[in-house]
Amino acid sequence: MSELTSVIGFPRIGGNRELKKVIEGYWKGKNGIDEVKETAAGLRAKHWKLQKDAGIDLIPSNDFSYYDQMLDTAILLGAVPQRYKDLGLGAEDTLFAIARGYQGDKGDVTAQPMKKWFTTNYHYLVPEITADTEIALTGTKPFDEFNEAKELGIVTKPVVIGPYTFLKLSRGAEGADLELTDKLVADTAKAYADLLVKFNELGAQWVQLDEPYLVLDKEDGDLDLFSTLYRTILAAKGDVKVLLQTYFGHIADTYKTAIELGFDGIGLDLIEGKDENLAALEENGAPENVTIFAGVINGRNIWRNNYAVSLGLLDAVKTKASHVAVSTADSLLHVPFSTEGEDKLAADVLKHFAFAVEKLGELKEVAELAELDDAARAADAKLAANQQLFDGTRVAPDAAVRDRVAKLTADEYVRQPARAERQAIQKQELGLPELPTTTIGSFPQTREVRSTRAKFRKGEISKAEYDKFIAEQIDDVLKKQEEIGLDVLVHGEFERNDMVEYFGQSLNGFLFTKNAWVQSYGTRCVKPPIVWGDVSRANPITVEWSSYAQSKTDHVVKGMLTGPVTILNWSWPREDITHEAQTTQLALAIRDEVLDLEAAGIKVIQIDEAALREKLPVRRSDWHVKYLDWAVPAFRLVHSAVKPGTQIHTHMCYSEFNDIIRDIDAMDADVISFEASRGDLVVLDAIHDANFETEAGPGVYDIHSPRIPSEDEIVDRIHEILKKMDVNKVWINPDCGLKTRGNAETWPSLEHMVAATKKVRAEL
Ligand code: GLN
Ligand code: ZN
Repeated sequence: MSELTSVIGFPRIGGNRELKKVIEGYWKGKNGIDEVKETAAGLRAKHWKLQKDAGIDLIPSNDFSYYDQMLDTAILLGAVPQRYKDLGLGAEDTLFAIARGYQGDKGDVTAQPMKKWFTTNYHYLVPEITADTEIALTGTKPFDEFNEAKELGIVTKPVVIGPYTFLKLSRGAEGADLELTDKLVADTAKAYADLLVKFNELGAQWVQLDEPYLVLDKEDGDLDLFSTLYRTILAAKGDVKVLLQTYFGHIADTYKTAIELGFDGIGLDLIEGKDENLAALEENGAPENVTIFAGVINGRNIWRNNYAVSLGLLDAVKTKASHVAVSTADSLLHVPFSTEGEDKLAADVLKHFAFAVEKLGELKEVAELAELDDAARAADAKLAANQQLFDGTRVAPDAAVRDRVAKLTADEYVRQPARAERQAIQKQELGLPELPTTTIGSFPQTREVRSTRAKFRKGEISKAEYDKFIAEQIDDVLKKQEEIGLDVLVHGEFERNDMVEYFGQSLNGFLFTKNAWVQSYGTRCVKPPIVWGDVSRANPITVEWSSYAQSKTDHVVKGMLTGPVTILNWSWPREDITHEAQTTQLALAIRDEVLDLEAAGIKVIQIDEAALREKLPVRRSDWHVKYLDWAVPAFRLVHSAVKPGTQIHTHMCYSEFNDIIRDIDAMDADVISFEASRGDLVVLDAIHDANFETEAGPGVYDIHSPRIPSEDEIVDRIHEILKKMDVNKVWINPDCGLKTRGNAETWPSLEHMVAATKKVRAEL
């Protein structure tokens, strides 16, 4: 006997990224859509069966997606903008056109904007709802997948993004705020009610509606919206049980309302929202007919679960709720597939890790242990074995690192002189034109680049041969940048597999996996390294290639580094010391690199903090105390010791920093580039209103799409920017690194960018 077990969602890309490969093959015309469908069905079947065999009771379906579950939900509800329908493409191609843009004989449309999914590195497509959008249940994907599993003998728990989260994340035309009319709310509620009716007919027992947006602060009217939607929806549920699934934080401000609305199950994150969720449960209790889904298996880390801690949580929930299910705390989408095959890691390291497949086993074991009384638990071998993982110190501290951190003084966090003075010195020393043009760092990592790196890794070519290849790539990309007339050049980052892993490899304290991929957006996956011990820099990391590049041109070449907050956010952090402590260690390591680059004659150094906003806590009251108060100083520590003439750039992969604009300015960089082309330009107002001191390059075109922007389009964009910003502070650049792009679109796009800039300069 064990408690009911529930998985919120499972990774869909495949243990060997099968889905990625077949979809990208389809895009390149190497295979047909039928092969995509076949691979997809195979993966779904395999993943359901894995969960069944692990003894999971409530196995999710419709957690599968070709690209993104928000996009799937938009399509399900008929929220497909007319311009995509007008292309007249088939279902899958329409989906890909929304996700990636389309440029071909059927038309020319940009992709829908993409944003980060709460505090993860997963990105969703922002649904667009305008006055013309008719929301109604139009798609069949959740039903098809439910039936598909049923035919395999598995009655799944269908999972759909809930209406509140869907509407809260939707936007109007061109990024405007959504106009939340009564009709829209009523139509949305009706669509979900119809969904439940349909699942009733099909024989579903539970339906999970994901409402992660509930863990955010509430604005006026939010709780009313939530209640209005669900009063209609729950009235239609018939025999189906509805699980309100929340994750990534707590719902203390919503719990009581949820109980009153009559959900059959409420899923609480007992990792990220632990204290507040438990307090809400304590205060309000749980009615006899409500099952509390206790999220105790972490879907955001790769570490083994501490069973004693989980049992403590479950015991606490049980004192308040008569029906308890044991659940993952969030979707396992955000963890790699399995530790199986990670044979490069020593057994006594690997025993500390649990990826998605292993977490299924943990979920089942914890649920079984939860049924036992104290005496039986005390005698249980599995529990004892698990406890051993957490006894004692996993890894010994590095005394030199700890000592250096302890001795840090306040002035090491402050760069001198003040920014305005530095900016004047830099203008003189660098001699750049108005509206200087640059790129974010990487250039296309072609198949040749990737296969040559693979050959080197496998020992098929020598270091000398590899270095020669990289040098040629650098020569070539510098020449091309000069030819098209860019001002500040980059070396192209050809030697880097990934902006975090590359640094991790030269830092003490990091571990790497062979195959621990996690979906970032669409078919793009990342393989974060693991912080295992205290961090320090083993050797200079980037100096050699940066100096080489600088020696090859008269233009300024930007040195290219990854910042400490991003390294941590895109790694698997340890859990035995704080994030703050880990970030400070990383900051010191990167500071050493900054100073070495400067000493080698590099005049402009970009320290990417692509992921800074990602881990901003979901609740505003936590922003500073739990994050910015140490994340911003960590960045300052990295660059505070450079000379006034050395120009420090940073880059961020998002445009929503209106609300933390002062914190970004306080990082005290000289220049920032950021994504702005796919989102709205509200951030420019914020820059204007805040008297933003940092010079800024709001991306003038979208690199996440293969589409080539026209010169006119970019001219318009620059004009928009100049309406809001002082021309002396504006840089012109794409919105992110170009490594995922092909050369075919990259060079014409950049040529258009440079030509557009020249045109605007001539008007000044
Ligand atoms: N310098 C990195 C690049 O150009 C930045 C990447 C990023 O922002 N994600 O690839
Ligand atoms: Zn970026």
